[in-house]
Amino acid sequence: MVWERTVVLKNAKEIETMRTAGRINQLALNAVREQIRPGVTTAELDATAEAIIREHGAEPAFLGYPGPTPYPGTINASINEELVHGLPGNRKLIEGQIISIDCGTIYKEFVADSAFTIGVGEISEDAKQLLVVTEEALYIGIDKMRPGNRIGDISSAIQEHVESFGYNVPREYTGHGVGRKMHEGPQVPNFGLPRRGLALRPGITIALEPMVLAGSYQTKVLVDKWTVSSADGSLTAHFEHTIAVTEDEPIILTLE
Ligand code: MG
Ligand code: MG
Repeated sequence: MVWERTVVLKNAKEIETMRTAGRINQLALNAVREQIRPGVTTAELDATAEAIIREHGAEPAFLGYPGPTPYPGTINASINEELVHGLPGNRKLIEGQIISIDCGTIYKEFVADSAFTIGVGEISEDAKQLLVVTEEALYIGIDKMRPGNRIGDISSAIQEHVESFGYNVPREYTGHGVGRKMHEGPQVPNFGLPRRGLALRPGITIALEPMVLAGSYQTKVLVDKWTVSSADGSLTAHFEHTIAVTEDEPIILTLE
């Protein structure tokens, strides 16, 4: 991953542009969500997302992104034990799986980044709880994104919620600042201590993304060099929004 560590504050106009990027990104994600069912391939989901992003005069942020190889798709499609960065392809979805879709959009030079996890047809009670807890962790974290708080307040709130269910968060993959670059400062881990780290202030824009493993926190990278999986094969989930810190309430920029 390419990380620009500098924290870049955005003005109101730039945040509006990011909100437009976020709307387009969410249109793409919602169309993918509608298409998820047994039998559909992740390449078909990828094509849907790319078409919607381009229809709106924007560009996929992930396509060609530098890594072990340039990223080959518009979305990450990560199934079951795959935590993040799953490559779209000819794999067909199967009833009972859970799938995380992560997508990024560039509009007028600004990036929005968001993700969700959903069941394919009917899923187990354990899987349902994992999805609920991971999405709750995202909103608990967003609520901490206010001036006066620090990055550690976000991180520790997410970690505490996730671990209270016996789940774990990965140590190597984190949330991040986002703007003209998909990854910029600050880094926002899903674990940490309250009152530590950068103080939040208006104009900071962050892609907050709790990633949760039902088993151990350890991960491994698959032979395709992109897909990150739980090391023990346990189920995983991932939810993400791009959010702006303001004088008062945090604003979620990745909403339709
Ligand atoms: Mg993402
Ligand atoms: Mg992200």
